[in-house]
Amino acid sequence: MAMEITNAEEYRESLAVLLRRQANQPLELLVVDDIAEWCAARQEEGRGNPIAMAVVDGQTGLWGILLRRRINANQIASVLSRIEYGGFERTHEILNVPTKFLEHTVLHELAHLQNGWNQDREDDCDRWAFERMGLNAV
Ligand SMILES: [Zn+2]
Repeated sequence: MAMEITNAEEYRESLAVLLRRQANQPLELLVVDDIAEWCAARQEEGRGNPIAMAVVDGQTGLWGILLRRRINANQIASVLSRIEYGGFERTHEILNVPTKFLEHTVLHELAHLQNGWNQDREDDCDRWAFERMGLNAV
């Protein structure tokens, strides 16, 4: 059966611990029903409707990572394909359980914040996330 995540809230606490250990400044991990709706409600500019997104509060400068509550099998498959296409051939083997998939997902978003990397650095963010997990996916 294809993997899906029915409620990411169940993983939020342990993911937040992981993020706090890796981040060089405080950040908030928020599980939201739908990232595009969350952005629209706050007049934030979003790109499509991803499963996770890094945000910086315009007023306080505080970091946030948004994570979609329910992530279906198609969304997971599409993320795994993108990562693998970047040259990480062991992606499916390594990220085939919800905990590992979500750890990599939130660390990827932290990579954007912590390194100041934009959307054209997806492969660098993936590599950084694997490294923080202590894994070699190549
Ligand atoms: Zn990214």
